[in-house]
Amino acid sequence: MGETEAIELSITEIITRLNTEITDYTGVKKWQEQTGGQAVGWLPPDVPVEIIAAFGLLPVAILGSQAEVKMASAHLPNYVCSYMRSSLDLVLQDKLNFLAGLIFPQGCDAKKHITDLFERNSQWTFLHRQLLPKQLDRPSSRVYFAQEIRRLISELKRFSGVDPTEEDYRMAVTGYNLNRGLLRQIVEIQQKKRTLSNEQFFAIVKSALLLPVAQCNVYLAEIIDAVSAESADETKIPLVLSGTIVESWELLRTLDEFGLTIVGDDLYAGYRYYNQDLLLDEGIRDPEERIVAAVVKRHYGQIPYSNYFAKDLDKKAFILDLAARTGARGVVFALLKFCDAVDYDYPLIKEALAEQKIPSIKLEIEFQSAASGQLKTRLQAFAEIIRGRGNGI
Ligand code: SF4
Repeated sequence: MGETEAIELSITEIITRLNTEITDYTGVKKWQEQTGGQAVGWLPPDVPVEIIAAFGLLPVAILGSQAEVKMASAHLPNYVCSYMRSSLDLVLQDKLNFLAGLIFPQGCDAKKHITDLFERNSQWTFLHRQLLPKQLDRPSSRVYFAQEIRRLISELKRFSGVDPTEEDYRMAVTGYNLNRGLLRQIVEIQQKKRTLSNEQFFAIVKSALLLPVAQCNVYLAEIIDAVSAESADETKIPLVLSGTIVESWELLRTLDEFGLTIVGDDLYAGYRYYNQDLLLDEGIRDPEERIVAAVVKRHYGQIPYSNYFAKDLDKKAFILDLAARTGARGVVFALLKFCDAVDYDYPLIKEALAEQKIPSIKLEIEFQSAASGQLKTRLQAFAEIIRGRGNGI
């Protein structure tokens, strides 16, 4: 076995172990057995996981499921996205009973309106609605968001009976900053080398959203060692992926099949989660106010998200810049059916990309849809168009 072959095996081995931990929340359940600790679910975007962790609780992202939706259809109209539909199904099938509670960001209309159904159909004693300002450049917006973060802290205190110390906050922030930094390192290596398949890369991101942070950091460091030793694969076409959340592993595999590799994204269950650290301002003496200020600062320095509005939050400019920075040769819009706000942004971004002669393709996806023959044909044609243009686009 040659050196490269041995390294490939090593990446595969690490990611196989990691996949075992993230499947059916196995890693979370093991952590609960070992520590007797409680896990609290959260949904992206924009829940400050560091604050949950400072209470000694394990933050676990709820990312829906690709399994057939069995029970949620009786509770929901057809025009709700498959992320919400499949997540509610997990609740209705008692598959999230291992959680002690849930933090539900009110980031879009679907999430806002479905929260009651989660509350009514679960056994949790704690369900916190995290309100999020939509017009970010209004003068009251930051004050409102800071107050919301204080409300989250006070609700967590009431629920857990814990009042975190300065050290608790600091340790939680350190662990998650390391985690996000490691993810950024992996994506930077991926931009240069394209060693990982899309499926592997998004399994890694998913592990950061699901696993205990210390355990995940060990995996990420191992992956960095393994991919750093690899040589670049110039045959793969680098792409940007735009959307919200991609749990369609069939889609990722199909992209892999045609040599299309994601090197940048704007997903809220992706780059939005790890693009920035949480920076504590040591000039603020009160530890609680220090973390509130840090969460607010990070939130107002975030990448664009279609459900928020601000004059200087230009998603079109962000995608163009991301494509330029990452060397992407095309953009795949993987838009979840019925995710209206994201869909409304699409025509303007597509036009801007066309003006810059950057090819793009829009795919309407659902959590449960397999890659159809038509989708495969479209992606194959997309790959051929890009290859036909050579490197000069
Ligand atoms: S995918 Fe779109 S509609 Fe569904 S929860 Fe996310 S933002 Fe809301």
